[in-house]
Amino acid sequence: MEKEGNRRLRVVLVPGPFQGHLNPMLQLGSILHSNGFSITVVHTQYNSPNPSSHPDFSFLALPDSSSIFTGESFIPFALQLNVNCKAPFQECLAQVMRQQGLDDGIACVIYDEIMYFSEAAAKDLKLPSIVLRTGCAALSLAGHAIFQLKAEGHIPFPESRSKDPILDLYPLRFKDLPIMEKLENFMQLLSKVANIRTSSAIIYNTIDCLENSSMAKIQQQCQVPIFPIGPMHRIASATSSSLLEEDTSCLAWLDKQSFNTVIYVSLGSSAFMDVKELVEMAWGLVNSQQPFLWVVRPGLVPGAEWNDILPQSFKENIGKRGYIVKWAPQKEVLAHDAVGGFLSHCGWNSTLESICEGVPMICRPCYGDQGVNARYVSHIWRVGLEYENKFERGEIERAIRRLMVDDEGKKMRKRGKDLKERVELCTREGGSSNNSLIELIKMIMSF
Ligand code: UDP
Repeated sequence: MEKEGNRRLRVVLVPGPFQGHLNPMLQLGSILHSNGFSITVVHTQYNSPNPSSHPDFSFLALPDSSSIFTGESFIPFALQLNVNCKAPFQECLAQVMRQQGLDDGIACVIYDEIMYFSEAAAKDLKLPSIVLRTGCAALSLAGHAIFQLKAEGHIPFPESRSKDPILDLYPLRFKDLPIMEKLENFMQLLSKVANIRTSSAIIYNTIDCLENSSMAKIQQQCQVPIFPIGPMHRIASATSSSLLEEDTSCLAWLDKQSFNTVIYVSLGSSAFMDVKELVEMAWGLVNSQQPFLWVVRPGLVPGAEWNDILPQSFKENIGKRGYIVKWAPQKEVLAHDAVGGFLSHCGWNSTLESICEGVPMICRPCYGDQGVNARYVSHIWRVGLEYENKFERGEIERAIRRLMVDDEGKKMRKRGKDLKERVELCTREGGSSNNSLIELIKMIMSF
């Protein structure tokens, strides 16, 4: 993007070091790059993105100041990361500013909400900053409500109240709130993430036709402009930012399956199962009699070797009806004609990707924001069924047949196709996401 004469504007992006955070930030980078901006990505060494997938971007690694995330203590990790990264990031920004000179000035810093140290560093260098919220808008409202519920003494809530509805937050119940780990640590992180301090705007990877009323409520609470520009994976050029290697052989297997028959199963990049749950899932899939494509990520069962965890009798039983990969090219899988349903943990990226392809879901949230997303999928957009039970083979088999075979699933599939069309309209010229993107670009240009 040229501001005056030949001056090209650079945007510095600071993604969160997790798959579900890297994807939307790098998609945003592609969108801004195709609109003429230069892109620098400043990242941690832990879970660092692959520069060769984004040859047009510059990448800078922060000195390895973060402890390694073990998968069990997300909140202490995130809090420590923010303490450790501020000074090195500020040094990094100052270095970029010195190198760029006048030809390529930094227009602004866009940071993932969990990398809130970026705001302070940008402010010290008198650079504007913008927050990217990688979850849905309803999640922000839920986060806001948690402060009030805690002040009123409703949190922590007893098990007996877990299914109680929360006033003004339909369809959410107490158990759907994104409360994690130790309450004190969680509240500390939540307050840091919710407070945008001096940042000039908030970007959401969401879509007006999905979250119109949540967006309106957030805009009422918030002094800065909000830009819902999703679904970013659809607007960005199709590059992969997978941290694990995608096994594309499953696409050839899908080519051999009939239209809308395959159930795709994935719990995303960070949910875990124990061996018993995995075995129940395996037999539920076999017994459903539907073809299935299952992502069994290395580490899905902590401490277990990938080859050992699936029972031998299961491997012998699946024949040509099932296909297992360590990591799938998920967007292509969901776009494949053979895929008729998605058993998902309902991470926000997976949810958006499924909605964009009109694929109905079995929603089986594990933690964090997934409960909020699952409730919206099943109760507001009604393109998925809620799976609230433990992983048990009979329950899994029944849920798959409800989605893939029964009338209930056919109706969801029909609603899914309608929703897909509405989402597509939002991304076209004159559509809400397109308009928001134009406004966002104008704002960055005006800094
Ligand atoms: N994903 C993928 N291959 C897989 C499983 C997941 O490419 O086998 C991608 C998926 O398309 C999504 C991201 O990983 O973009 C997961 O993000 P999400 O927010 O759904 O869940 P998280 O991993 O953060 O829990």
